[in-house]
Amino acid sequence: RMVFVNGEYVPEEAARVSVFDRGFLFADGVYEVVSVLGGKLVDFAGHMARLRRSLGALDMEMPMAEAEFLATHRDLVARNALDEGMVYTQVTRGAADRDFLFPPEGTPLSVVSFTQAAALVDKPAARRGIRIITQPDIRWGRRDIKTVQLLAASMCKMAAKKAGKDDAWMVEDGFVTEGTSNNAYVVAGGSIITRDLSHSILHGITRAAVLRLAREARMTLEERAFTVEEAKAADEAFVTSASSFVTPVIEIDGLPVGSGAPGPVAARLREIYIADARASAV
Ligand code: PLP
Repeated sequence: RMVFVNGEYVPEEAARVSVFDRGFLFADGVYEVVSVLGGKLVDFAGHMARLRRSLGALDMEMPMAEAEFLATHRDLVARNALDEGMVYTQVTRGAADRDFLFPPEGTPLSVVSFTQAAALVDKPAARRGIRIITQPDIRWGRRDIKTVQLLAASMCKMAAKKAGKDDAWMVEDGFVTEGTSNNAYVVAGGSIITRDLSHSILHGITRAAVLRLAREARMTLEERAFTVEEAKAADEAFVTSASSFVTPVIEIDGLPVGSGAPGPVAARLREIYIADARASAV
């Protein structure tokens, strides 16, 4: 695999970042995951807007122009002959002597990008649905910033694996925040319910697209927090993310959601989303 490191394309074996990189020492960095369908980038502009926002919230600027990021993404897709999968990009505050204070102005940010091949459309999880458990949300208070500080979510996903399940929904004050790497939804009383945007959750790029498409299809939406009890009593549940698109949830904490099989709303949204993503990819 060829990867991009600070302006250069190098074989992954030769790629290097400093042991003093603040991404490594402080999780002082942010990332984006752009999905690739048919060799094209899905919602690239949305991911770049969020990257700029995440960096801005941490007093960093875009290290390259958006057009350069686009060129880099396309180069990586071409050099690695990627048809379906994702491009991961990470920007950190760069390398400097270890200090809680940010390094002096002018310290170059580190930029790393790489591709990962994966089947996104034809996926057993999408056909069968996933089983989840609930876990306390122990993450920090700025989950809207897409930082590389992912240990809490990683531990929740490990807890799910140990329980023989696929993923976890994180819960704060009785309300579901989101999945370990996706936004969470339930369908109840004919309405699609997902948590409203705040510092408590990541503002999913797929979430924005799915809500827009649901509105265009005249489906009823409610952006508000929902409880675990509400989710367990719902007709359907599902998650969205750049890599999972729309994926049904068929079990929560050992209890079947609705009939225990993937529901029609999630199936329809997945179909509409993939069609739109293919048509608008760049
Ligand atoms: N929430 C969390 C915590 C995530 O890590 C992710 C994606 O990685 C999402 C939501 C979904 O965001 P997006 O649709 O932009 O991939």
